[in-house]
Amino acid sequence: DATLETHSFQAEIKQLLDLVVHSLYTDREIFLRELVSNASDSMEKLRHLQGTEKDIHDAALPLEITITTDKEARTVTIADRGIGMTREELVENLGTIAHSGTKAFLTAMKESGNSPANMIGQFGVGFYSAFMVAEKVEVFTRSWRENGEELLWTSDGVSGYSIEEASGLERGVKIVLHLKEEHAEYAEDARVKHLIERYSNFVGFPILLDGERVNKVEALWLKNKADISEEEYKEFYQFACHAYNDPAYRLHFAADAPLAINALIFVPDENMERWGMQKTEPAVALYCKKVLIDPAPKGLLPEWMRFLKGVIDSADLPLNISRETMQDSALVRKLGSVIAKRVVKMFEKEAEADPEKFQAFYKKFDRFFKEGVATDYANKDGLAKLLRFESSMTDEGKLSSFADYVTRAKDGQDKIYFLVGPSRVQLESSPYIEAFKARGLEVIYFTDPVDEYVVESLGEFDGKKLVSISHAGVELDDNATEGDALGAEATEKLCSFLKDELGGKVTSVASGKRLVDSPVIALVPQDGMTPQMRRMMKAMDE
Ligand code: ADP
Ligand code: MG
Repeated sequence: DATLETHSFQAEIKQLLDLVVHSLYTDREIFLRELVSNASDSMEKLRHLQGTEKDIHDAALPLEITITTDKEARTVTIADRGIGMTREELVENLGTIAHSGTKAFLTAMKESGNSPANMIGQFGVGFYSAFMVAEKVEVFTRSWRENGEELLWTSDGVSGYSIEEASGLERGVKIVLHLKEEHAEYAEDARVKHLIERYSNFVGFPILLDGERVNKVEALWLKNKADISEEEYKEFYQFACHAYNDPAYRLHFAADAPLAINALIFVPDENMERWGMQKTEPAVALYCKKVLIDPAPKGLLPEWMRFLKGVIDSADLPLNISRETMQDSALVRKLGSVIAKRVVKMFEKEAEADPEKFQAFYKKFDRFFKEGVATDYANKDGLAKLLRFESSMTDEGKLSSFADYVTRAKDGQDKIYFLVGPSRVQLESSPYIEAFKARGLEVIYFTDPVDEYVVESLGEFDGKKLVSISHAGVELDDNATEGDALGAEATEKLCSFLKDELGGKVTSVASGKRLVDSPVIALVPQDGMTPQMRRMMKAMDE
């Protein structure tokens, strides 16, 4: 065939396919949900194009997903009327790592205990799950663009794929899975029906299986809490979050004032950004009375909450609000701020109810909370209560809160002491700590490079100033040290000798009560930059 082009998969895609095909034994059935969710995503995109584009090919096609099974041929076919793909898009989306989270997925697979099935959808590599059950996958497609080609992408999921011209295609994508002999069950109508009922109830488009409608489209978030089972919540989360496990937390609430709100928000249990994925896109969808306004509204919730998934439905929004004007609307801002407050409160309650669980969660998601402290002024106080850290009084690996610190503080201690550095080990052996240890004062260890910005934005907690013990100007009482061995006159002489010797390298030399065993330490001037901060500024300049 003169039109046939063959391509090899990039090395990472090969690795990924190998992993998916050979290490997933139990959860193979997830392939169907992944393909159905791609079909649904694509039709969602088409629906949005309808608002802005005049020339859409096959504009009148109903937005449906059609699944057909053929036992004799051992195939299952999933077709949608979405945006389809051009030749370039086929190459980019189904064979290159540039688009997808392939690299991040591979790292996460190696380093986390999470199951591959749970990760595959979340990392944007769901399409490849087709090869868990198929020995050959055919993707027929025609793009929504009027001048689009009709194409067929074919692969055995081993080394590469080919693309050739096709004919007689409508807009969208039709995927034919030629099932492996041992997975022939997925060519049976009853088996597939069961899977759709189980996994795809919340897909917002009709799904027709062998000519019959299977899914009911349900707005779970509008139902009464008391009428929703844990199983339904879980199914909805798994659908909304592309996950196969349980969420870490959930917030479902309805309010009438100051705005009519029904919100169902989930906190996933894995943080993709941790594995080198690009910045997570906001994914709490905005609805007005069940009508989708924006699947990923930017600026609705504070940016640090971008890891949340779910739905916000407000009957008070004008239905015709466009995505462009949405961000400027005072109503939307109000909506966002009400919900953001509830989210922070939810974390506070959950952290109190099960501190161990929250600690494990925090270790994965800490960067979001820290970003929040530095950027979300309205929720700063609430967020400060959620911060966790190690200190001179915690065991290694155990985290503590500012509130815990305060309960351990000495009588009359009106400051919270901290030290910034690269690791716990290094901070523990630092001379800065000596005087504080000797006096039984707890020192927080901040070891994440962003911590210094975070403390700076925070300034204080509960009226207690956060004080860096590597800075000058920290006053300590007298009772822990032995007294002045040198005598006042000799000390003064020594100080001025050192100042002369060091010249411009130091601002001043003074005697103090900050040491127990070490003879001298270098302190950062009271309002000066720490060496860490200076290094960071320098790195940014380069
Ligand atoms: P994700 O859906 O998370 O992006 P997938 O591996 O499931 O990752 O799909 C990769 C990409 O292939 C999608 O982002 C999309 O661009 C394209 N794609 C897959 N299925 C379809 C489809 N049915 N219609 C249009 N594009 C699709
Ligand atoms: Mg997908």
